[in-house]
Amino acid sequence: MAQATAWLRYSFFLSPSASHSLYLARWRYPLPSSLLLKRKAKPPISASSPSSTSNVASTDAAALTVFHLHNTLTKRKEPFRPTMEGKVGMYVCGITAYNLSHIGHARVSVVFDVLYRYLKHLKYEVIYVRNFTDVDDKIIARANELGEDPLTLCNRYCTEFQSDMAHLHCLTPTVEPRVSTHMSQIIHMIKQILANGFAYSIDGDVYFSVDKYPSYGQLSGRRLEDNQPGQRVAVDSRKKNPADFALWKASKAGEPFWESPWGPGRPGWHIECSAMSATYLGYSFDIHGGGMDLVFPHHENEIAQSCAACKESNVSYWVHNGFVDVGSEKMSKSLGNFVTIRQVIDVYHPLALRLFLIGTHYRSTISYFIAQLEIASDRLYYIYETICNCDISLNQFNGENLKDYVPKYIVDCINKFRFDLKKSLADDLRTPIALASFSEPPSYS
Ligand SMILES: [Zn+2]
Repeated sequence: MAQATAWLRYSFFLSPSASHSLYLARWRYPLPSSLLLKRKAKPPISASSPSSTSNVASTDAAALTVFHLHNTLTKRKEPFRPTMEGKVGMYVCGITAYNLSHIGHARVSVVFDVLYRYLKHLKYEVIYVRNFTDVDDKIIARANELGEDPLTLCNRYCTEFQSDMAHLHCLTPTVEPRVSTHMSQIIHMIKQILANGFAYSIDGDVYFSVDKYPSYGQLSGRRLEDNQPGQRVAVDSRKKNPADFALWKASKAGEPFWESPWGPGRPGWHIECSAMSATYLGYSFDIHGGGMDLVFPHHENEIAQSCAACKESNVSYWVHNGFVDVGSEKMSKSLGNFVTIRQVIDVYHPLALRLFLIGTHYRSTISYFIAQLEIASDRLYYIYETICNCDISLNQFNGENLKDYVPKYIVDCINKFRFDLKKSLADDLRTPIALASFSEPPSYS
């Protein structure tokens, strides 16, 4: 039983103390004090059941628990093999901080938190980098609207985001770099791209020339002729090809700017992630992640820029999570159909939101319905209640050797749960299957 509760806590969403967890569970439900004294009837000691793991040959079982991760670049699941043994570098594109974050942002963060925790569980030493975009057109527009300094506005919303992440039990990444404090690295990379002949400058702007990079489109599968101006491609008659994208933008009146060899300005959006990932993880690293909407143009452009700056650049696994839909549309700030994390956790326990998000496989679309949060709340309460009851039962043994008391069917149940959990997470993080294994009642026969 001690093993079972330890595994429950290891899993992606539980805190280390059952009493603390129970306290948190009361967020939504007032918990009657009598529950703390409630004990479930003891099962018959003599009962036993066949263990599912005992039917699985050990070599097959080992093969089933080798971690496989879906790679957007190859469009298939691949066995996970890091570049350096025992170490993993992971970069995830973070938020553009100009408003409270919505459930789509929560999903990205929770998905990669599950991956981060899982890699750590597999004993990898992980460097997890998640950036904040604090220099952007939308930030400038919002700051002007509020009459506020753009970086002050960003600082505020970065702090709000970190508070949301703490509520969702997302571990803090190893590094959370911001664009405004990495200008020298960004400018250095643009200089490398220009020196290698992959970019051109016009009137203080610098553009990446997609025609110079024949592999352009390898991640998204888009052909160059698909990239028409206005369709996720900026309209600018000075560009050699409509699909060329800005590495550096000359400053306009009233905008924040930084000095550069091409004049005062600010970086284009995509270059920040190439420069910051190279700064903390090197040009070649293991995992690059983000929402599905980043595959094109953001990540496509990142590959082109990074390889143009350094031809040894490589990301081993491109990992993308699916959308959160509201009705038939993607939830997004630009469509104005978003629900903020804050709106949800004002009403529901934050971990109910986390449970709702991991109840669907990370690559599938989630449809947002209040009813789903209600179900997740009930489920969360049940899990905490179970853990609390487990702790109460364990405390009765007071350090005695549990092996002498735990019935075989319980040991079998724990082993099956451990195996099912390992197998489902190893298979491209199948969290819905892992969660379902929580719910299986023990077999007494
Ligand atoms: Zn990015």
